[in-house]
Amino acid sequence: MTLDWQNIETVFLDMDGTLLDLHFDNYFWTQYVPARFGEKQGISAQQAFDQIFPHMLSIRGSLGWYDINYWSQYLQMDVLGMKHAAAERIQPRPGAIQFLQALRRASKKIVLATNAHKDTLDIKFSRSGIGPYFDYIATSHQFGVAKEDPQFWQRLQEIMHFDPAKSVFIDDNEKVLDAARSFGIQFLLTVSQPDSQQEPQASNGYSSVSDFSILAGEIK
Ligand SMILES: [Mg+2]
Repeated sequence: MTLDWQNIETVFLDMDGTLLDLHFDNYFWTQYVPARFGEKQGISAQQAFDQIFPHMLSIRGSLGWYDINYWSQYLQMDVLGMKHAAAERIQPRPGAIQFLQALRRASKKIVLATNAHKDTLDIKFSRSGIGPYFDYIATSHQFGVAKEDPQFWQRLQEIMHFDPAKSVFIDDNEKVLDAARSFGIQFLLTVSQPDSQQEPQASNGYSSVSDFSILAGEIK
């Protein structure tokens, strides 16, 4: 799908798995945290994983899932400190910076729409360099609803007064895209390979982007 960039005013972008490689988050939650938690409990990383992971799955998609303070409490560990310690794996996805630069040149309004916790944003911005490109940063924690809920978009529109018919939203999570579609965002794209260390994923309902430099080249 080629987007009608002339008619697009606002570009909403997800962070983890879209602008940034989801490898960091997958590594952090499935390997780094279980290893540290296992050390603390005197059990193996695999045992720690088996203990933590069912709970992670049970709250996936809720605000708690995305809340660093929640996990610090649950694990009785400094999750933010652990993120800093593992931060060298944070990196932009292919062409992401180039895409942000092209949007800037074309004077599009660039909005980060993320479920990530504010404290996580600081680490990810300083590591990846994406921070300065955004005109506005919308976090689900500020609205009290995750992006999986169409209300996220209602709250955001109350603040930004954007035109959904002239908006594009790119996110690697199709549940999130479904919510944006039911709100009325006109152009929706998913990401074919959110995690550089895993196989590309097929999408049933959405066109997908892999390398953002291709999209960057289409912007007039
Ligand atoms: Mg994502």
